[in-house]
Amino acid sequence: MSDQFEFLSDFLTNRMSMSHIYQPVMLKHLLESGGQSNVTDIAKAILVHDHTQIEYYEAITKRYPSRVLQARKITERVKNECRIAGFDDLEESEVAALIQICSAKLKEYLQRKKSSPWQHRKKSSGNIPGSVKFEVLKNARHRCQLCGISADQKALEPDHIIPRERGGSDDITNLQALCYSCNSMKRDRDDTDFRNIEEEYSARKDGCPFCVPDDGTVLKQERLAYSILGDEPNPDHILIVPRRHIENYFGLYQPELNTIQRLLNTTQTELKQLEEPVVGFEVTFQASTTKGESQEHAHLNMFVKRNS
Ligand SMILES: [Zn+2]
Ligand SMILES: [Zn+2]
Repeated sequence: MSDQFEFLSDFLTNRMSMSHIYQPVMLKHLLESGGQSNVTDIAKAILVHDHTQIEYYEAITKRYPSRVLQARKITERVKNECRIAGFDDLEESEVAALIQICSAKLKEYLQRKKSSPWQHRKKSSGNIPGSVKFEVLKNARHRCQLCGISADQKALEPDHIIPRERGGSDDITNLQALCYSCNSMKRDRDDTDFRNIEEEYSARKDGCPFCVPDDGTVLKQERLAYSILGDEPNPDHILIVPRRHIENYFGLYQPELNTIQRLLNTTQTELKQLEEPVVGFEVTFQASTTKGESQEHAHLNMFVKRNS
């Protein structure tokens, strides 16, 4: 037995971290590839084990090529499998020639098409950088924000809450994590609800102090909301205000609520780091639906609670 074998087998048996499948999959792949491989091929080896991605393509296969090919009598179903019609009548050389045609067709398609053939998967995600995608999934705690299924069970993708073709932005507050089932259901839905939302965001009311805040007291600016210090005698009062002039908090759109939630989260994290005796927060908002009562710009009040 070589020293190197003992070293490697000891690592595999006793020392390798098994917090995920990555290490054994990568080492198995390298061992099967003559000891060396590139990152793309290692990624493909990992992909084989990612059942969430495989399920995604299973769903597509059932929906699209299977049905079309069966309808044209090119393939047929045998129990749970697909089979080329009349495959047994083909010579081995004929099979090889057909494989050649498939390869040529694929090559031709990929050369002709400027955009990637996987663009349809990006339809919902635009050109969202990987780091933003990661943050969207992290904010969603790696669960679909519609049905709640975990990323371990179904692949999640960032989705534009207001579609890009309706003027929705690539801003993180306009993104949510959806599983592919919820995402495709959403795509099929009529999205006329989203018309002119970007225009509505810019609604302001003359003379409203929240519409034009005092820059000196604004803590954090975001595109759809901001945080600001409350009135003087109480230093522990912070307001979080949507930029749009709206009286009813319940009329806010999800991207605005996302922005407000993000501001709440960052404010509480920062306050806890800065000031020692903070024991908690009280968050309130006014929501009057009756005309004549509290007709002011909707906002959240955040009060810092202390022990003393
Ligand atoms: Zn879902
Ligand atoms: Zn206002």
